[in-house]
Amino acid sequence: QAKQAGRNTLRFFDPVMQAVAVRRAMLESDLRQAVSRDQLRLFYQPQVDERERITGVEALLRWEHPDYGMVPPGDFIAVAEESYLIVTIGAWVLETACRQLARWSSEPDKAGLTMAVNISPHQFQQPDFVADLEAILDRTGARPQRLKLELTESVFMEEPDVAKATMNRLRAMGIRFSLDDFGTGYSSLSYLNRLPLDQLKIDQSFVRTLFKDPANRVISASIISLGSNLGLEVIAEGVETQAHCDWLAEHGCTAYQGYLFARPLPLEALTALLERSTCAAGH
Ligand code: C2E
Ligand code: MG
Ligand code: MG
Ligand code: MG
Repeated sequence: QAKQAGRNTLRFFDPVMQAVAVRRAMLESDLRQAVSRDQLRLFYQPQVDERERITGVEALLRWEHPDYGMVPPGDFIAVAEESYLIVTIGAWVLETACRQLARWSSEPDKAGLTMAVNISPHQFQQPDFVADLEAILDRTGARPQRLKLELTESVFMEEPDVAKATMNRLRAMGIRFSLDDFGTGYSSLSYLNRLPLDQLKIDQSFVRTLFKDPANRVISASIISLGSNLGLEVIAEGVETQAHCDWLAEHGCTAYQGYLFARPLPLEALTALLERSTCAAGH
């Protein structure tokens, strides 16, 4: 018995595991101060319609770390989610995105742009989420009709009825919903027409390997027809080449996002791009 415990203890003090735990703790304490130290940034990636006109953007979070430079969300969102720091960070994201949305509303050529914001499960499941977002909309003057929340299937796994009720309250305010990374989760399809969704987003893992893997063509085409049969807009993410875009268009996709059109851009670069291109939303 003692030997057994000894072995477990040894395993627990595995130096590699300990290094991982220490790094994680450091990351978490750094991240805890990222908001108050003003180290978070939003980048904006254009979304375009079938005529390649910019209809809106997706806000994508970056962490400008004093030592590590611009850190992508893949490196810290999971830790933020597990530690519930995502609630504070997500509130900052929503406030910043809504403030930008409100600024655009007074510029005729940008007033129709939509702002898509990623919302993680713990953030969405906060009891105060609706009230907090309402306060943000009031404070910033952003129009809820221009705001699109990107949720993933995991939001509906634990308490689907609670998630649905929250969505309905937000929908009543005019807010729209996109189902992000669609096709990568494990939930059943039956919830699709029971939730107030507006858009399905084909995950980039299918799009990127469209021509390498025939299964991904079948999946992408199925998502497009599923979406249009349910009356949902379908947007493809991770569109990197014209050939991918053409294939998706031929199969009925009407909205796109990806490096073919633009990368996620800091505000100044996005503004310059908007000045150059025809803004669908302004017409
Ligand atoms: P996502 O919401 O699925 O965002 C799309 C990701 O694909 C972004 O990565 C974007 O930069 C990248 N992308 C777009 N077009 C292309 C392309 O043509 N090729 C390739 N290779 N990649 C492309 P990013 O910005 O690193 O964000 C990663 C993920 O982090 C997001 O995936 C989202 O799940 C999460 N995230 C980003 N910002 C936020 C946020 O404010 N809150 C929360 N909760 N999650 C966020
Ligand atoms: Mg997204
Ligand atoms: Mg996605
Ligand atoms: Mg994704």
